[in-house]
Amino acid sequence: MIVRLNPVPCLPLLPEIPEAVPAEGLLLRLSQSRSPDRNWANLREGASLPEGMELVSLREVWKLLGEEAFVEAGRARQLMDWYGETNFCGRCGRRMADHETDGARTCESCGLTVYPTVSPAIIVAIERDGKLLLARGLNFPKGRYSVLAGFVEPGESLEEAVQREIFEEVSLRVKDIRYFGSQPWPFPHSLMMGFTAVWDSGEISIDPREIGEADWFAPKEFPEIPPSISISRKLIDDFILRHRRKESFPVRP
Ligand SMILES: [Zn+2]
Repeated sequence: MIVRLNPVPCLPLLPEIPEAVPAEGLLLRLSQSRSPDRNWANLREGASLPEGMELVSLREVWKLLGEEAFVEAGRARQLMDWYGETNFCGRCGRRMADHETDGARTCESCGLTVYPTVSPAIIVAIERDGKLLLARGLNFPKGRYSVLAGFVEPGESLEEAVQREIFEEVSLRVKDIRYFGSQPWPFPHSLMMGFTAVWDSGEISIDPREIGEADWFAPKEFPEIPPSISISRKLIDDFILRHRRKESFPVRP
């Protein structure tokens, strides 16, 4: 992603990048549906960046420019990737064309219509006697712990996905599953749906293919947790707020 770092960090506007190749057709329609004055572009191969701009990863957009720009850049990335992956029909192999009215593409030969991919995933904060279940995923940065998450499978309700994931990863049963909130997560095209739940039965037994360690933590004992913008951190902060005692304890940024 290209960001402007000077004089003020922001997502650049198209006219600021002379060597950009603007989106056309459906992509242009999709880009403008949220922000009429903004649209997406690819940089011409081998092109140099204007002064004050830099090429960064999507995660760095979040660090440099904050949540709003991250969501906007994430949406652009997801839709541009999807568009590039749907030039040919997955059923008959012929050309796909932009749908006339919907944000979709249709096969010119067999009529198959495909919409942008969104993969629902659940993420859940489980508590037991004033402690929160935190786990270290094998793919996490070193030392980082978080709440558990996993993809929803076809034919499953969100509540069933919560129960299945928790049982698969740490062999626990939970109750009182309540919706918390959601967050688009463009790595590559998830929609994270957050829940809180209460331990019901079982003792922690991890699936070593996914989890390095898992344990119950009181707020004062928390290990390193995810940064503040993610829904995982929002779930953890919500737990802390609900269990705040009179004594103070440090919360890492
Ligand atoms: Zn087809």
